[in-house]
Amino acid sequence: MRLRNVKGSREAIADSEYTVSSPEEQKGRWNHIFANENPVHIEIGMGKGRFITELAVMHPEINFIGIEKYSSVLVRAVDKRKELDINNLMFVRMDAEYIENVFAENEVSKIYLNFSDPWPKDRHAKRRLTSRQFLARYDKILKRDGTIEFKTDNRDLFDFSMEEVPAAGWSVIEYTYNLHDSQMAVGNIMTEYEERFSSMGNPIHKMVIKRNDKSA
Ligand code: SAM
Repeated sequence: MRLRNVKGSREAIADSEYTVSSPEEQKGRWNHIFANENPVHIEIGMGKGRFITELAVMHPEINFIGIEKYSSVLVRAVDKRKELDINNLMFVRMDAEYIENVFAENEVSKIYLNFSDPWPKDRHAKRRLTSRQFLARYDKILKRDGTIEFKTDNRDLFDFSMEEVPAAGWSVIEYTYNLHDSQMAVGNIMTEYEERFSSMGNPIHKMVIKRNDKSA
């Protein structure tokens, strides 16, 4: 994705009460940030944050953390967040490659990946957020019965993910190649990219995955 540098975005994020600037220090203690014991759901690569913000408004019983690599995008989510009277949504600017430094074992109940960058070159496969390398990282932070929900319009990335999931010791529990025309559409919240690509006529693919039961 090409990014326009938004002047002052780094400073705006550093100063915001809604972003956590030293997230490693919160590892194993995110419940203190939210001052409750509610489950933690994260979105990795949240972009401008429409999806996670809508979810947070709808589900005050869940703590949401949006993760985004670039300040220029994250600052848009922070701006929207300021207008809301909610206390269950925080943001972190970081590369998800280091996610295990930020969350402890079993600290996360659900992970959302929406329209993740496809990294089409084979030599960049390990950067894809559904690669076996990333699934191994999620394995370290997700609760045993936790799930990952992944949406994309990119068929190559979806097919790649379908292969990575079993190779990494996970299972697809539900999937569709046409989300908006399926039973999985119930309660679907559109992301910015989803709206853009579906308005161009692209079918949206979705999978829900979980780890294989090691005791089986
Ligand atoms: N999820 C949003 C949506 O569906 O509208 C944005 C999708 S955009 C194509 C992908 C986003 O993921 C970008 O904002 C990018 O900066 C972010 N991203 C990509 N790799 C990342 C990583 N390793 N860690 C954190 N964010 C990442």
